[in-house]
Amino acid sequence: MARPVDCGIFRAVVDTKSLQFPATSWPPSMSTATHTPNPKTEETRSVIDMSKMNEGQRAALQVTEAARESVDDLSFVAHLFMGNWAPAKIYPFTEVDADEKVRADKFLAELAAFLKAHVDADEIDRSGEIPDAVMAGLARMGAYGIKVPQQYGGLGFSQTTYCRACQLIASHCTNTFAHLSIHQSVGVPQPLMLFGTEEQKQKFLPRVAAGEISAFALTEAGVGSDPARMTTKATPTEDGEAFLLNGEKLWCSNGTRAGLLIVAAQTPPKLVDGKPRTQITTFVVEATAPGVSVPHRSQFMGHRAIYNGVLRFTNVRVPRANIVGGEGRGLKVALTTLNAGRLSIPAASIGTAKRSLQIAREWGGTRIQWGVPIGQHSAVAEMIRKIAAHAFAMEAMLLTTSRIVDRDKKADIRLEAAMCKMWGTEKAWMCVDELMQIRGGRGYETVESLLARGETNPYPVERMMRDVRVTTIFEGSSEIMRLFIMREALDPHLKVAGIALNSERPAGERLRSLLKAAGFYAWWYPKQWLPFGGGAPADMHPHLAAHFGEVAGWSRKLARTLFHQMIKFGPKLEKRQVLLARLADIGTDLFAIAATCVYAQKLLRDGEPEARVFTLVDDFRAQALLRIRQNFDGVAVNADQHGYDLAQQVISGEHQWAERGIV
Ligand SMILES: Cc1cc2nc3c(=O)[nH]c(=O)nc-3n(C[C@H](O)[C@H](O)[C@H](O)COP(=O)(O)OP(=O)(O)OC[C@H]3O[C@@H](n4cnc5c(N)ncnc54)[C@H](O)[C@@H]3O)c2cc1C
Repeated sequence: MARPVDCGIFRAVVDTKSLQFPATSWPPSMSTATHTPNPKTEETRSVIDMSKMNEGQRAALQVTEAARESVDDLSFVAHLFMGNWAPAKIYPFTEVDADEKVRADKFLAELAAFLKAHVDADEIDRSGEIPDAVMAGLARMGAYGIKVPQQYGGLGFSQTTYCRACQLIASHCTNTFAHLSIHQSVGVPQPLMLFGTEEQKQKFLPRVAAGEISAFALTEAGVGSDPARMTTKATPTEDGEAFLLNGEKLWCSNGTRAGLLIVAAQTPPKLVDGKPRTQITTFVVEATAPGVSVPHRSQFMGHRAIYNGVLRFTNVRVPRANIVGGEGRGLKVALTTLNAGRLSIPAASIGTAKRSLQIAREWGGTRIQWGVPIGQHSAVAEMIRKIAAHAFAMEAMLLTTSRIVDRDKKADIRLEAAMCKMWGTEKAWMCVDELMQIRGGRGYETVESLLARGETNPYPVERMMRDVRVTTIFEGSSEIMRLFIMREALDPHLKVAGIALNSERPAGERLRSLLKAAGFYAWWYPKQWLPFGGGAPADMHPHLAAHFGEVAGWSRKLARTLFHQMIKFGPKLEKRQVLLARLADIGTDLFAIAATCVYAQKLLRDGEPEARVFTLVDDFRAQALLRIRQNFDGVAVNADQHGYDLAQQVISGEHQWAERGIV
């Protein structure tokens, strides 16, 4: 029987935490706070059991571990996986500052008018080009520096306003969204705002806020989801004043048009315990510098104007002053940037889902087949219902998370952001897929063809489907997001029992750790069986409070199920990715239910009629609970090992017979 392989990135996290409980320090790499180095990194590295790793895994682990750091507070979702109930982390839903709201509403109205008047999404898709006039117009209204502080020439808006802008733009033109989002979520603004020196901020932020395009170059042909082993190198010059950059980056969006690039590269290794350890450093690079070239512009099934290309660096001189976040801290900069920037893609997913809802409403209500509008056939109604409930829940999750960031820049939202990205992009794909079915043959037909034969409603469903598909792949694929969620969910347990399980640690130390773990679980485990504990805030509407409080009960079931799987599989649990994915999905659906209640309470406060809001909250809860129950059942009874064995047989060629009859 084949055994699932060890996943370095999972192990990189789960084996390397400080081992005290309660866990007051988390390894976040990904909150939106300004980050400081983790003093525990070197110390905790010594607890990693690397005895069974090959050299490649060991190297990736070492670099990834060096990218980790600590914050002091568990988030709502982190508590959820431990069966703890911490509603104050997400409730109440705080409002955007009144001054900002006035400014933001004006900006968003101006942006919407501009998009309608000047941005032809179908033409951009057809030509693969965003017209210069569109870029200039966006720059004039400040759309290249939405979050950049005003003192550096930006609009200085909050995460919430930025997300609203992303949603708006993506609902109209996903190419324009990708262009602006890559520029400011992962391009130069975000890493500089998080890690830049004052000098760097003054030098570069005004340029990018004014519309000089920026890009983020991390991926290489050989390194995608696992960037720790990148090969692009930055070698110090003899005078030590600069570095010479050499290598090739793949799929750099905005890269063919950018003036400024964020580039991650290997710098000379550092000696740790007498052995060389790979260092990754991030630089701001002028795209016009001698030695930077774009040998290829990549083309994709969608996002045809993403200006994505291969970037080649040949002896490119980059001043030492352009290092972002310190030498050797490049992976941390890259991962943190991706995490903080990760909320813009789910914001775009909401734009896509809401547009799907709009089209489904119009077409479902007007297309007559078998004597009635198709939306009255229950099979079609079921699809419309799914789109409506999920668009609402996506917005609730994202806005709840954005408000946490705006309330406290240091708050740890890594798990919430990963869930928004993973779940939001998958549900956006689901919405567009359902919409394609609702539109029938017209969904599959291009806008150009629909228009040419005189259709009055040439909805761009075919384009939407092409554009949305990649969102579950880039900026952290769904598989990597689930791994990330679960490795963090397991972290408190590893802090309790990690040393006891580590075969490389001395026997005495392991015994002490075992005793400590026994003490912890003696109170923690029985608590997970209590039928009470939880409850909703006193001022929450009773209808919502019932659903909200129910999440606490489910979270205890989730916590004890996770614990049982830890006992069953021990350290091998990390290899059970399909099983872990079910638990990640349960946690995500629970967060989604909780967020819909929190957001619904805000809508009631804003004067939205109760009945309308409750219909969506209730319907989403019903759909999510179905999935939650199915996932719990799947933990108990599944064919995961059988499926894994089959896949390995397929890869080894044993089932090539099943491919007979094709060309
Ligand atoms: C349109 C587009 C734009 C992009 N823009 C940029 C950009 O601007 N800058 C940039 O640096 N990069 C960019 N990328 C790269 C993108 O981030 C990568 O495609 C992504 O990181 C995945 O890497 P990969 O494609 O090499 O897939 P791989 O890493 O080869 O993964 C292939 C599959 O295996 C899965 N997988 C991999 N490892 C594991 C594991 N340990 N456990 C379980 N499953 C696993 C993945 O989820 C995926 O399904 C872009 C890509 C595209 C398509």
